[in-house]
Amino acid sequence: METKNTEIPSAEPPQEQEGATVGKRDETAAGFRSIYETVRHGVGAMGVVRTVRTLLAINQKDGFDCPSCAWPDPDGDRKVAEFCENGAKAVASEATTARATPEFFATHGIRDMLRESDLWLDRQGRITHPMVRRPGADHYEPIGWDDAFALVASELNSLASPGEASFYTSGRASNEAAFSYGLFARQFGTNNLPDCSNMCHESSGLGLTESIGIGKATVKIEDFSYADSIFVVGQNPGTCHPRMLTELEKAVRNGCKIVSVNPLPETGMMRFKNPQQPLELLGSGTPIACLFLPVRINGDVALMKGIMKEMLAIDRSGSKALAHDFIERQTEGFDRFADDLDRESWDAIVHDSGVSREQIREAADIAMASERMICCWAMGITQHKNGVGNVQSLANFALLRGQIGRQGAGLCPVRGHSNVQGDRTVGIWEKMSDQFIDALGKEFDFVPPREHGYDTVRTIEALHEGKVKVFVALGGNFLSATPDTAYTAEAMTRSRVTVQISTKLNRGHLITGEQALILPCLGRTERDLQQSGEQFVTVEDTMGAVHASRGVLAPASEHLRSETAIVCGMAQATLEGRSRVDWQGLTDDYDRIRDHIEHVVPGFTSYNQRVRDPGGFYLPNGPREGKFTTPSGRARFTVHPIPKREHEQGTLLLTTLRSHDQFNTTIYGDSDRYRGISNGRRVVFLNPEDIEQRGLHELEWVDIISHFESEQRRAERFKVVPYPIPLGCAAAYYPETNVLVPVRSVADGSNQPASKSIVITIEPHRDGDP
Ligand code: SF4
Repeated sequence: METKNTEIPSAEPPQEQEGATVGKRDETAAGFRSIYETVRHGVGAMGVVRTVRTLLAINQKDGFDCPSCAWPDPDGDRKVAEFCENGAKAVASEATTARATPEFFATHGIRDMLRESDLWLDRQGRITHPMVRRPGADHYEPIGWDDAFALVASELNSLASPGEASFYTSGRASNEAAFSYGLFARQFGTNNLPDCSNMCHESSGLGLTESIGIGKATVKIEDFSYADSIFVVGQNPGTCHPRMLTELEKAVRNGCKIVSVNPLPETGMMRFKNPQQPLELLGSGTPIACLFLPVRINGDVALMKGIMKEMLAIDRSGSKALAHDFIERQTEGFDRFADDLDRESWDAIVHDSGVSREQIREAADIAMASERMICCWAMGITQHKNGVGNVQSLANFALLRGQIGRQGAGLCPVRGHSNVQGDRTVGIWEKMSDQFIDALGKEFDFVPPREHGYDTVRTIEALHEGKVKVFVALGGNFLSATPDTAYTAEAMTRSRVTVQISTKLNRGHLITGEQALILPCLGRTERDLQQSGEQFVTVEDTMGAVHASRGVLAPASEHLRSETAIVCGMAQATLEGRSRVDWQGLTDDYDRIRDHIEHVVPGFTSYNQRVRDPGGFYLPNGPREGKFTTPSGRARFTVHPIPKREHEQGTLLLTTLRSHDQFNTTIYGDSDRYRGISNGRRVVFLNPEDIEQRGLHELEWVDIISHFESEQRRAERFKVVPYPIPLGCAAAYYPETNVLVPVRSVADGSNQPASKSIVITIEPHRDGDP
């Protein structure tokens, strides 16, 4: 049965007429080309002076935090250019001089804009005024701030219960905005606080908390200089966290061995030319990975079992490959874990991982020779049905040789959005601990709700079922970031009102509730002036460092407000008479918000003082300091079966991925030079043998059909691109392929969408070539 509601306008990015062309893949990441792209995007979007001004301030101790990924900045001295090509693209996109004014919205109707690409939407520039879409209207029209807040208040206050509202947060929101937002939602009466972490690293949070007692990285950036091996698993740093390549390059020069585990060979893991080293630009670059393991999609449990089985066997042969003292004193569950490895057959390991026994042995040799090993990963690990098991397999791997809690060693889930980790730390979660809820209630003298709220997937389902009627988004592009595009679009249109706090136009503004508000906010690059003077905000990077971010540009429009001011404005209008919080006071002076955070969240002692130190401070991290914060005080070995492919012969497993011209759902261009793609995004990467077996041809237009239980979903018109990807595997960009991800296909335990394991078939496009 194919699922599609034709009454809802298509929420998918439009199809391409000519489609992509395919050329040679870049063999080296960064280099001169990235400098050229940085300048091209910067100058093209904001002119020379603005480009220089912003790029000199990005990631500096007295500047602003890159609004893109969550990779940390060096603790010590920083270079003049402390950013990567993708950070520069993010800044150019935000600091663009283009403006989406009320005149723009008067000219462009929603139905017309739905026919435009994501790139076109982004290029219309910064939204300058609060805008409203009235019931039945095809155009947004301006609305004053007071009226906008009154509309939010009246919609929220007319709900039958607070649980009929859901408050989403994107990882761009600062600690100050996020804390105020969580407080607002809980004073309103709900824990419905979904966030983008539900979609990216929920499996890491759960898996690591169970295994070692904290759901965060246990390393600092300096550890990369001390490591003698680094395993990078299910992650493409060259595109998703580009400055990580600088640390990998340094590590290689120190003699560190880097192992890349991924279905696709990614350019960034192969060779890197550091744009910050002029002499290097003239050479051929630094080789990064010394070993590439082309694991099948979701073959990671099998692969890790193979590596660990090899290590166990060598250890038993008398070579002392494992850290027995550490295992004895600081862990539990080892015997059961070892028994499980003994029972696993090599045939299953090699078949299900897709990696040869020889390569597995090579990886095990590197791990066994390593005194200081770091293991990094991203969504190639977490977005599977067994995502939690994948994460815990990596934790098992580190525990075997005690590679946690000492210099140069540890676990490192690498987060995708700049403050996604900080938002969670300060309270954005649908199931914060009782300790947090108690402290919040005490600090603000109210009784917060205790019942767990909706996460992202449950919010979509609740919208669809009519249980959530008001949807508020603090940043992001919920529609394009979430799975099952057609279903999610239908869910959004069933709501009474959607409220989006945004800087720029995106597809999420075009598929809305009966009414829709766009509340335009300041970006990270902009100065934030409030009653008590110029403010700064704070963020937490992927390694738990909290630091300040100060914008340097004048706001894109005099009508913009900060995210914090908007949140507090909505709260004041909604909770009037029911809240003792001085919302205006919080807006006037963000130090007050930080004082509250200090009282509610452990680890923020002297927050206002320490965050003013250049570079900020690290939050406490038990495992990093050698103390596992599990209930028993020991790290846990866990057992995970190799996931079996539950689909029939002839199907493929599809992973969604990003292009190099993209950050999350924001599209900066229609090329991906690291994969040889130009002028289009609707491509599907397939192994040449799989192409031949299906009677397909290179660059033929095909449809991709996903299969889940008895349902089918279809994404139309993708070009076939032969690629060195394991047999039975396929890859294509999101958000174009989100339509194929069933909303109910989620990771066990974490409820994270399984966007990297989609069972598909491929057939020639039904209508033939255009
Ligand atoms: S690595 Fe990430 S945080 Fe750093 S500049 Fe690049 S995109 Fe920004």
